Amino acid sequence: MSYVKEVLDSVIARNPGEKEFHQAATEVLESLELVVEKNPQYRKNAILERITEPDRQIMFRVPWIDDNGVAHVNRGFRVQFNNAIGPYKGGLRLHPSVNLGIIKFLGFEQIFKNSLTGLPIGGGKGGSDFDPKGKSDREIFEFCRSFVTELYKYIGADVDVPAGDIGTGAREIGYMFGTYKKITGVYEGVLTGKGLTYGGSLARTEATGYGLVYLTEEMLKAHGTSLKGKTVAVSGSGNVAIYATQKATELGAKVVTMSDSTGWVYDPDGIDLAAVKEIKEVRRGRLSEYKNARPKAQYSTSGRVWQVAVDVALPCATQNELDLEGAKMLVKNKVKAVAEGANMPSTPEAVHYFQSNKVLFAPGKAANAGGVATSALEMSQNSQRLSWTFAEVDEKLKGIMKNIYHNIAAAANEFGMTDNFVVGANIAGFKKVADAMLAQGIQ
Ligand code: NDP
Repeated sequence: MSYVKEVLDSVIARNPGEKEFHQAATEVLESLELVVEKNPQYRKNAILERITEPDRQIMFRVPWIDDNGVAHVNRGFRVQFNNAIGPYKGGLRLHPSVNLGIIKFLGFEQIFKNSLTGLPIGGGKGGSDFDPKGKSDREIFEFCRSFVTELYKYIGADVDVPAGDIGTGAREIGYMFGTYKKITGVYEGVLTGKGLTYGGSLARTEATGYGLVYLTEEMLKAHGTSLKGKTVAVSGSGNVAIYATQKATELGAKVVTMSDSTGWVYDPDGIDLAAVKEIKEVRRGRLSEYKNARPKAQYSTSGRVWQVAVDVALPCATQNELDLEGAKMLVKNKVKAVAEGANMPSTPEAVHYFQSNKVLFAPGKAANAGGVATSALEMSQNSQRLSWTFAEVDEKLKGIMKNIYHNIAAAANEFGMTDNFVVGANIAGFKKVADAMLAQGIQ
């Protein structure tokens, strides 16, 4: 049996029920076959066994009291996966679907994504099954304070630096930072995604969406075209989706769809981003309200954004939202490129279908790495006690995303798999971490 197969069987047997983690581990490990064959020292040093086992996984009770005086209990998670190349780094997801398997899939992916940025950050992820939707500001504060009252023991500017993710935006990061400071008495860059008045970085809010578009543009340019004049389908209407739409529009594309967990809009004239921002960022409302601002747009609760004929698709909502059926609709309509803004939004069958139909496909761990890269730039600014301008950060982000594209393309080429950016991203991300682990001995 191959080394990869042996480790995968063991990962699946040792982590029963964690289907998203199995999916992520399978996708990464299967694309490392050639690398581990070429480097027998990885097997000798149990690199795959060690990289698939988190350094530690912390689970804890998060009690909080609602506005009616009723107590609730949620479960908190922090999985510190790998710190071979830097302190653990990865977001905190607040969503009712959160469980250990989802946090482990995200933490595992984060190892390779963070490595691809070229910056010194390890992989981790956390969150809770708490649902922030419909909660009052006081309830959110209460939850965040309770969450950090336990989490603070395990994090620190040189230890583990969490950030936002689904359900955790600037407000939640602010409450968590305040609680950490209150408990420890230490003012340090322990979280990223902070507000600009207390150590946040300019361009962090925009970074994941902008970065996704910079990488997509670079990938298209390398294939003789660009976003200019292209029609684009975006899914989601959160942080990543909004800023991907903004940058793609700036580069001359026309974004015609966006979605949320209840429905989606198709606006043939191009999405009116000001209207979306007002609904989602200001009022925290539903996308169904979009029609009030743009009567000609269509809102639907059935079907999906992938049924619209577009040149480029940017899935920016959540995992496994683009399945084989969605992929088939896109290919039928002659999509040229798909780049993942969300983490693992395409199912393995969809990815395979894109690749076998010669669609340029950029996986999330490369395409959405701009967020964590800019978080690492926020850490640098905090350590230096300096802040850079928007243009400085944006310029660095652009450079990082271009490098990521060229590194993953080169890694794919080296192993004779030209344009297979899934394999390229896994190999390029893995090698740096694996070599650091080798250098540091069996830990
Ligand atoms: P937000 O919470 O800001 O937005 C998430 C969007 O996806 C919302 O429109 C939400 O709809 C929709 N959504 C969430 N869950 C589901 C679901 N189960 N089905 C359908 N739609 C859903 O999150 P972000 O934009 O920050 O994150 C989006 C994705 O990008 C995630 O996969 C995240 O891990 C990834 N990512 C984010 C980074 C960042 O910097 N923010 C960095 C790298 C990756 P609704 O409004 O109805 O909840």
